[in-house]
Amino acid sequence: MGKIINGKEISDKIRESMTTQVEDFKNKTGAVPRLEVILVGDDPASQVYVRNKEKACAALGMESNTHHLPENTKQESIIDLIKTLNKNKKVHGILVQLPLPGGIDARAVLDEVSPQKDVDGLHPINMGKLLRGEDPLFVPCTPQGIIELIKTTGVSMKGAEAVIVGRSNIVGKPVALLLLQQHATVTLCHSRTKDLGEVTRRADILIVSVGSPQIVKGDMIKNGAVVIDVGVNRVNEKLVGDVDFDSAKEVASFITPVPKGVGPMTITMLLKNTFLAAQRSVK
Ligand code: NAP
Repeated sequence: MGKIINGKEISDKIRESMTTQVEDFKNKTGAVPRLEVILVGDDPASQVYVRNKEKACAALGMESNTHHLPENTKQESIIDLIKTLNKNKKVHGILVQLPLPGGIDARAVLDEVSPQKDVDGLHPINMGKLLRGEDPLFVPCTPQGIIELIKTTGVSMKGAEAVIVGRSNIVGKPVALLLLQQHATVTLCHSRTKDLGEVTRRADILIVSVGSPQIVKGDMIKNGAVVIDVGVNRVNEKLVGDVDFDSAKEVASFITPVPKGVGPMTITMLLKNTFLAAQRSVK
């Protein structure tokens, strides 16, 4: 039976070590790391995510401020707000909570965030640098967290067959690039992939980010694989991942649970990126 990768515990340790660093930084510079979050509309899951980000910032002694805008906010108003935040020297990180309501071009909005404050790492300059194998100013949070989780297993990514299910801009594509940097052999699957199980069974490292409850079962996993489940699905008031945990843990060597797997690491990497932005701003 596979070992559980306890994302919550790993996250707590990283946050604990950051607390004194943030304290020192504040004492030395007088600056307080500050994150501004833009939340448009009333999507319940997004509201929970934003609240968790606010709480995490506060626990670390960092400031956060949420701009909760109504569902019918015009794209230009969101862009105007971003432009104001870009200019504000006290603001170090800007995060636009996705998804944005229909009718708003998320890409056009994200393009407006200054690359220096793009703590989600989704600006084309940062994504482009990642693609070119250069150091982006910020690495997207969930993919960065996934790599950290894999590192804790001690399993080498070099030469490993890594299969990713899902090709989103926030998870699938950037994590593929990070795994390439780690010298894994990378395969990206999506909704048009023929015989998904045949591909996933090749994986030494399997990452699933689809948003479909328990789509990957134990019989689709190679014996001894490291399994990272990114999916968050609400089924009968319970959170479940994209991986069928019970059957998968019988074959995996390491596996992340849902909740308390990837989720806490995503927030921890956001805190890291925000602190990094603050540190750069005083240099
Ligand atoms: P997304 O934008 O929702 O896209 C889903 C991806 O899955 C697409 O690439 C899609 O393929 C693929 N897909 C859909 N059905 C499939 C199937 N039957 N077989 C293979 N691939 C299939 O993805 P996302 O934003 O990465 O989100 C995925 C899940 O992760 C969601 O549950 C989300 O809530 C969760 N998430 C969690 C965190 C966290 O921190 N824990 C962070 C981000 C996301 P096509 O491209 O062909 O449509």
